[in-house]
Amino acid sequence: MVGTSFIENSPETRPFWDAAAAARFVLPVCRRCQRMHWYPRGFCPYCMSTMLDWQESRGDGEIYSFSVNRLGKQPYVLAYVALCRGPIMLSNIIDADPSKLSIRDRVRVVFKPAVGRAPVPLFALA
Ligand SMILES: [Zn+2]
Repeated sequence: MVGTSFIENSPETRPFWDAAAAARFVLPVCRRCQRMHWYPRGFCPYCMSTMLDWQESRGDGEIYSFSVNRLGKQPYVLAYVALCRGPIMLSNIIDADPSKLSIRDRVRVVFKPAVGRAPVPLFALA
């Protein structure tokens, strides 16, 4: 499974993790250039502004690219998901038969409970 590429307990990412703990998916949006980005961080990667807001997202998107890892006990799917409004993010596709997945399949974010930490955003077929 994909680990998170950003720190869980930093002040810059706390709104994301607080929302995730409540199964809400929020993304940072820049107040200056209005662009949404991934992953959460303390500044906009497009214009370097530190004036960010958080916007709730339905987490709808489509598979942009994916690969199936078959080295473990069970295969898992690593995928880039292009969100309908927003960035492309690296995650896992879960609860799906890897042999039946295709690029551009519609997916939606899901949060699975995690032990001792906030749940990470994963995706399932919509
Ligand atoms: Zn910006």
